[in-house]
Parts: sequence; structure tokens; C-alpha cells
Amino acid sequence: MLQRVEHTSATSPLTALLDASVTAYGALPALNFLGRRWTYAQLGRQVDEAAAGLQRLGVTKGSKVGLCLPNTPYSVIFYFAVLKAGGTVVNFSPLYVERELKHQIRDSGTTIMVVPDLKIIHSRVAAVAQEAGLSTIVVCPFAAILSPLKGLLFNIFKRKDKAVFDANDGRHLTHKALVAGAPPLKPVSVDPERDVAVLQYTGGTTGVPKGAMLSHANVAANARQVIDHVNCLGTGCERILGVLPLFHVFAMTTVMNIPIALGAEIILVPRFHLDDLLKTIVRTRPTVFPGVPTIYGAINNAPDLASYDLSSLSICISGGAPLPVEVRHRFEALAGCKLVEGYGLSETAPVLTANPPNGIIKDGSVGLAVPGTTLEIRDLEDPARVLGVGQKGEVCARGPQVMLGYWQKPEETARVFVDGAFRTGDVGYLDEDGYLFLVDRIKDVILCGGFNVYPRMIEEALYLHPAVAEAVVIGVPDSYRGQAPKAFVTLKVGHPATVAELKSFLTKQVSKVELPREVEIRDQLPRTLVGKLSKKELVDEEARKHPQA
Ligand code: AMP
Repeated sequence: MLQRVEHTSATSPLTALLDASVTAYGALPALNFLGRRWTYAQLGRQVDEAAAGLQRLGVTKGSKVGLCLPNTPYSVIFYFAVLKAGGTVVNFSPLYVERELKHQIRDSGTTIMVVPDLKIIHSRVAAVAQEAGLSTIVVCPFAAILSPLKGLLFNIFKRKDKAVFDANDGRHLTHKALVAGAPPLKPVSVDPERDVAVLQYTGGTTGVPKGAMLSHANVAANARQVIDHVNCLGTGCERILGVLPLFHVFAMTTVMNIPIALGAEIILVPRFHLDDLLKTIVRTRPTVFPGVPTIYGAINNAPDLASYDLSSLSICISGGAPLPVEVRHRFEALAGCKLVEGYGLSETAPVLTANPPNGIIKDGSVGLAVPGTTLEIRDLEDPARVLGVGQKGEVCARGPQVMLGYWQKPEETARVFVDGAFRTGDVGYLDEDGYLFLVDRIKDVILCGGFNVYPRMIEEALYLHPAVAEAVVIGVPDSYRGQAPKAFVTLKVGHPATVAELKSFLTKQVSKVELPREVEIRDQLPRTLVGKLSKKELVDEEARKHPQA
């Protein structure tokens, strides 16, 4: 194991994290993409070249550069290049439809967008460019990041998937043209505490998409906090499996910034496909695997799991959504490694808490606050009142990772701070040892005949049934009680169950008021872009069935 390098302080920009690792671990692999590797020295060089090209394009402090990329080396290269040129990264999901792209480009003031030369992504960005106000689309060739043979095959067999554009139309610029002959990068002075490194769009607690302004210090601090908190990651020796999309804040920190701070190898996986992922684990032998609960659940239920060697994994980190206790125990037994749950939000860069891998891991808890973070539980009705141990209320946080505010939304910003503490919109309690237990989100709480019903409790109960693969519970209009819980489940392959069986099972697990009025078995459930189970579509569907409610 190599000696740890001190990368950042509150006075250094986020790019110091990469620079220190380029110096300390230059010859070690930084990126592994479908078998091709980039060393830290190569990564550093490519970042500087792209940054110089962006600077020549006019990127400077305050410029917003959008990244609309699946997980590829370009995601890492351009993230750091934008920051080195002094700009702000705006993360876009490559799955956004035109309406979402347009809204986020306009709201953020993004003028340059980086995309791959894949028609499916490029065509949507190009379609909105004029109207949304994009001045430049930087197009990155997919074949150029594959091995020479794969690149050749890609160019021959995937020709029809490639973007079609006129490189001389004044708006398009290829990656090659961006970097060719650019004058050397001029260093930009960054104020880490005030300059916005990343605009991370989130629905937040109100559902309206808004950009959380994460400063250089916010993002750098969170990488450091998690490394110190988990206290089990080595330097110059880890391999991180990067299947979570880097445009999401959880992956930004756990799949990119933490590994880079440690001189680790990032195995970039451009899309989630269960069989491919299992084969990638066998082939690349990752040691660390950040994921969301649905991915671990899918692995648990893989029919031929025993034929894959998962023994390289030493730690898996789940975040983004509740990790059912049953899913954690099963995964740990099957994979033979620890699966620790953490918790955070886009607004907190993102990690606030995690279970300590080498300490006490409590079932159902999202763990202890990471270093430098203070948690407070505040009264739901009167947020000025801080509650005591075991009392349920809104989880609020203070720490170096808490965002500067929402981009151009001072009122929304004011609404999510109370006495300087950030209001997460999640309901939870702290136990006597400081472990945080999340009960639910404020907006998901079902108000059922005067009782607060927490969907999460019912979902946990459903997961205890041997046939249940996934479960989501929402509140639906009820003429007598106002709202009532309704459950949606998918079943494990080869485990049949009827609605009557599930309902009868639940009568022994939850109280009468929590008993779902209906249980619906589906083939699949809606998901968000990062693969979290999503309630929104189900809530909308139910609202359409009861328009008068
Ligand atoms: P986002 O900012 O889109 O990543 O969403 C953040 C929200 O995800 C939080 O406010 C929580 O409601 C939820 N979340 C994140 N991690 C967990 C977790 N471990 N358990 C339960 N909910 C979580």
C-alpha cells in the first residue's frame, strides 16, 4: 500500500485532488474502460489538454459547461477539465428527453455541452441547442476510447448508431478540434469556499428541479470525510466498480472523487446490465462496489450467481434509497463481503452518514454522521425545536459538505435552512449511540385517518416475504381515511405468490392502520434514472384513477 497523499484543504480547489494523485501515482491505472486503461499521468495530460481547449473557447469563472455522457473516460476528463478552466460542471443525464434538457440548459445558463458521438444522445441535445441557447456542442468519439480493434469494429458495425452532424456548422466541435493547437492552460484562481464546482440538479423536497450549488470545498470535503469515516480503503491499490452513472452525485463522490483521491483504478461501466456486470466483476476483480439497493437486489436474485467469482469485493456501499435489511444480509452472505449503507442528498455532495465498516453496523440504520457533520432532529410542526434521542422529526445537518444554496432560487434556499442547519426533508431519529434511522420522506408520509403511516415500514415488511423481489408503498386517496396505503410488488423468478397470501402475511407484520388497502403484483416497477424505485409514476397513475380526490 502506498503512503496517503494529502490532497485538499478548504483552501485548495477540487482539482488539487487530481493533481496530487497525478504526481503521486502517475504510473498507476486511473481508468479502465472495457479493458483499455489510462494511467494517472495520461489522465492528467488529457485533462490539461481539454481544459486548455475549453479556455480557448472562452470558458472562465462563471461559465457553465454541461456534461451529457454515459460513464466513459470522457466523463472524468471533462469534469476536471471544466474545473481547471475555472468553469462550473452541470451534470445532465444522457437519458433526459428534450423537454428536460431544454429546461436544465436554460435554467443553469449552460452554453457548452459535451456529448458522445452516439446518435441517441447527440440528436436530442442538437434538437434543443438553438432554442435552449447552447453555443457549442463538443462531440467525443466513442471509437477513440476503445481498443484499436474494438474501435475499428465499432466504426464498421455501429456506423448507423453514430451521430450525424456538420463539423463546420459553427456550433459543433469535435474533441480533436477542441484540443488541437490550444495555447497552454492558464491557471485560474479559484475561491474553493465560494466558487461553484458543480450544479447538481435535484427534485429536492418540493419536486421542482433546481440546481444545488456545490462549491469546490463542498465536494472535496465530502470525498475526504467518507475516506476518513470508512477508514478501510488503501491508497494505490483499490479498484472501484463504476456502474452508477457519474452524472449522479452519489457516483460523482464514491466512483470518481474518492478513488481519484486514493490513486485507485476506476472501472467504468457505461450501462447496467446484470450479466455484463457480473462478468465485469469476474474479469476486473474490483475491491469496492458502490451501488443502489436495486442493483444489490438484482444480484441476489441472479439465477446463476454461484457461477460468478465475487471474492475480490471487500466492501460495497449502498446509498440513494433505503436498503432493505433482508437484501443486505442476503448479499453479504452470497458475496462474502460487507455491504454498508450510507445516506445523503445532492445538496450535501452527497454523504451525510454511513455505517462504519469496521465498527458496529446496526440493522435498519444509515449509520453515523461522517466527520465534521452534525445532525439534528427537528420537530415536524415547529422546526425551531430540536428533539431528543429516539424522537422522530426532520433530519437536519451542518457540515462542510452542505451546499451554498439553490442556483438563482433564494426563496427555495431560505426554505431549506433553519438556524443555519440544512433541512433534508427526510424523517428520522437518532439512537443513544448517534446512529440515524430514517423513517421516511416528509412528502411520502401517508396521512391515514389521523395517523402518520410510514411507507418504508410496510415495504420492509413486504421484503420479509420470500417471494417478494421489490416493493413500493404509496398513499392513495381514501374517502373515509383521507389516504390509505397501497402496495406494488414484483415477485422473484420461480416464487409464485397471490395477492391474498401477501395480504395475509402482512397482517402479522404491520399494524391495522398500516395494512395496505390494495396490493398489486406487477412485472416491473418504475425506476429513476439511477435505478432507484420511483413512486412518482405510481402516484400519478393512482391520481388519474381518482380525479375528484
Ligand atoms: P437525491 O438528492 O436525488 O440523491 O435524493 C436524496 C434523497 O434520497 C434523500 O433525501 C433520501 O430521501 C433518499 N435517500 C438517500 N439515501 C438513502 C438511504 N440510505 N435510505 C433512505 N433514503 C435515502
